[in-house]
Amino acid sequence: MINKIIDILQFRESSEADNETDQPSVTTGSVVWGVILRSAIIITASFLFVNPLYIRQYWWIILFALWGLVFYPAYRQYQSYNKRIKTLEDETLCGSCKHFDSTGQMCRLYDQHISRNHIPCEGLDWEPKNFEL
Ligand code: SF4
Repeated sequence: MINKIIDILQFRESSEADNETDQPSVTTGSVVWGVILRSAIIITASFLFVNPLYIRQYWWIILFALWGLVFYPAYRQYQSYNKRIKTLEDETLCGSCKHFDSTGQMCRLYDQHISRNHIPCEGLDWEPKNFEL
């Protein structure tokens, strides 16, 4: 848990290593969690320091901080995640299965993360996506 929070605060981007493990460090959920956590830290810090330091006229710095430290890194993380998950979809059986949830690198049926090395059903419950209505 501590490592996960440190990953989020370091704006770590998705890497190919996440395709090999069933505990990926970046998913859509972790990107959203990162936005909430980083925004909370910046907004709390602004409440704590703006009034005591008499720097109200520099309120726009907070907007730049939110853009540069929260939204832009989150956007980069999300782009990088989507690129990686596309590769994973192309390389694994789960990528063509209707039970695969690409937003979380998860199998909805087994409620587990999937990876190149871990297909929870071992192919037994695979159902093609194109039969979904
Ligand atoms: S049912 Fe099997 S093939 Fe389909 S997503 Fe889950 S683990 Fe992958």
